[in-house]
Amino acid sequence: MANNVRVRFAPSPTGPLHIGGVRTALFNYLFAKKHNGTFILRIEDTDQNRYVEGAEQYIIDALNWCGIPFDGGIDKNEKLGPYRQSERKHLYKKYADMLIENGNAYYAFDTAEALDAHRADHEAKGKTFIYNWHNRLKLSNSLSLSAEEVQAKLEAGDDYVIRFKSPQDETLHLTDIIRGDIKIDTNILDDKVLFKSDGMPTYHLANIVDDHLMEISHVIRGEEWLPSLALHYQLYDAFGWEKPQFAHLPLILKPTGKGKLSKRDGDKLGFPVFPLKWTDPVTQEVSRGYKEDGYFPEAMLNFLAFLGWNPGTEQEIFNLEELIDAFELERVNKSGARFDPEKIKWFNHHYMQEQNDDALAELFKSQYSELAEIDVNYIALIVGLIKERATFVSDFWELSSYFFEAPKTYDEKASKKAFKENTASLMTDLKNILVHIDEFTVEALQKDIKSWITDKNIGFGNVMMPLRLALVGALQGPDVFDIMFMIGKAETVKRIETLVLSL
Ligand code: GLU
Repeated sequence: MANNVRVRFAPSPTGPLHIGGVRTALFNYLFAKKHNGTFILRIEDTDQNRYVEGAEQYIIDALNWCGIPFDGGIDKNEKLGPYRQSERKHLYKKYADMLIENGNAYYAFDTAEALDAHRADHEAKGKTFIYNWHNRLKLSNSLSLSAEEVQAKLEAGDDYVIRFKSPQDETLHLTDIIRGDIKIDTNILDDKVLFKSDGMPTYHLANIVDDHLMEISHVIRGEEWLPSLALHYQLYDAFGWEKPQFAHLPLILKPTGKGKLSKRDGDKLGFPVFPLKWTDPVTQEVSRGYKEDGYFPEAMLNFLAFLGWNPGTEQEIFNLEELIDAFELERVNKSGARFDPEKIKWFNHHYMQEQNDDALAELFKSQYSELAEIDVNYIALIVGLIKERATFVSDFWELSSYFFEAPKTYDEKASKKAFKENTASLMTDLKNILVHIDEFTVEALQKDIKSWITDKNIGFGNVMMPLRLALVGALQGPDVFDIMFMIGKAETVKRIETLVLSL
């Protein structure tokens, strides 16, 4: 592929970025980087009614957290910016006028009430009202009115929109990298509004003009934009511009596989559908995010990469570099991708093992006041021992609290199994051995305790089970010798004494 790949992620700041949007951004990023191209973030904020405070910053924060930086975008005016559409609004009118001049668009003056009446009228007759060649000559526009009438209306400042004039009886041939060839009968298309009386372009016009001016080579976006493709093709032709290539990514489906994933599915089943936590500026309603729920960005990216794409091999673990290397749009599926919240946990568990213990320890310490006074190096050693069993940092305390404080209770079922008549005397003997070990290392502990058990023919279970209960409170955790070493001699002896007293 030529070296001028330029792609864009073009969200509208109408609320928090949905996880599906993050997947679109990721696929654009992977494709750009694979082809040494440019990845642009374009903010499509021409619809003032849907603008939501904080949404743009959220999008930027989410991409930053994921680690998929844009080359051009907000506050990064790579050569063809600015990349916020509201800063480009002076640009679009000229293009709408161009289409009027070359006969591909027209002024329409119909009021909302008049259009509603037409819709109702059609419905009453069992028909659907479409604003196109079927009836545009019966409506109020520059095709049905005389040039003088149009001029008078414009001069009087009447409200108008500019509509695209879609052709009659034509078949459009569209091409999509993922979906192949698509044929569309123009008779089903309506004359979409391109420009509104508030002086702002609609999504369609601004999107096409910007993709052209920003020299976008590939448009990679969600399947929900596929119905707009026919109009976009026609707009390129109407301007006489070369088209980019298109790739429409499959929908992300509910965990059941039926229907599109929504925020409600997340709420119902207890998983986030947003990368970061979001507080609605109006209702103050809080939506949880993957970051705050304890997911690692690497896990999320690896998981999202597999929503609709696969490498064609058995390999599932891919870091970002490997994804860039393996990614191909031709390997993206047409059919919807089922969202499996358990699978992202599986990835998180995997990436947990790859995290640096010191960084995890800092995080763990910052989340638990019980750890405030404890040396972070000690915490890091413990994290190294237990993280194999953890999916989230929030699992750490339950897996490791006995390293920081003595157990408060002994598991009932385990106690029944472990405590016998001679347990108290065995534990007292063990304590006396420990007191006399000078070098309290794992090796010394193993050697002395094991030879005592073998010499006296005591049986390992009779010592190890109660000992573990004394230290942990349950029959779980890493090797007891490691635990004793970590908590030290004094604490080990104290916990054995406490157990003996309780028997
Ligand atoms: N602003 C549109 C959105 O919110 C962009 C669609 C496109 O990529 O063309 O998704």
